[in-house]
Amino acid sequence: MRHIVAISPHLDDAAFSVGGLLAARARAGDRVTIVTCFTGNVARPQGFALACQLDKGLDPQVDYMALRRKEDHAACAVIGAETIHLPFLEAPHRGYASAPELFAARRMDDGMLQPLTYALREVVDDLAPDLLLGPRAIGNHVDHWMVRDALAATGRTPMLWEDWPYLRRAGPTDDMPVVRHRLSDADRDARLAMCEAYESQLGFQFGGAAGLEALISGVIEERLYPV
Ligand SMILES: [Zn+2]
Repeated sequence: MRHIVAISPHLDDAAFSVGGLLAARARAGDRVTIVTCFTGNVARPQGFALACQLDKGLDPQVDYMALRRKEDHAACAVIGAETIHLPFLEAPHRGYASAPELFAARRMDDGMLQPLTYALREVVDDLAPDLLLGPRAIGNHVDHWMVRDALAATGRTPMLWEDWPYLRRAGPTDDMPVVRHRLSDADRDARLAMCEAYESQLGFQFGGAAGLEALISGVIEERLYPV
């Protein structure tokens, strides 16, 4: 049995990007752990951070991260993956004040790299993966880059997934993947079921579960790249 560890920026990225591959490994008897980095709570979100909750159709009183952690447990349960939630705060809580800023340069005052690097080093040492996976940061979300850079700073050599659904807008690159995981029907079903568990994200990102299904059914493989 091998241990596959996926380091996900947000509560949904690993499932969206490599849910099929993780499902296949779990079905083959491997141990799968999904570590999500930015799952921390803020008691009373304000400004853009609050807007990110309201645009998902959620009341200000709802504990948005608690809801998303619960969704993540349900998603991981689909394939029997273990979950680890690191309590770091998402970009909207670190001074990024608009949607365009989430996809622009890292803020000078964003001090997340060092604590995240330390935490990932500890958690990866602890989990001792045979295969370590992380985001390639396609789409340039600052949190995805933060995880990619922190993973690199740990000195480990993860294989990097293509961030979906950002990949759809970015298009393919000329780089050569080291793994092309062709999705079986079972992989596809598991990936969809995992993604559907992140209910709070579906309306905003895909216009609902039907929109997700329409998009994801067109994905035939998941690719991994070297660092
Ligand atoms: Zn993300």
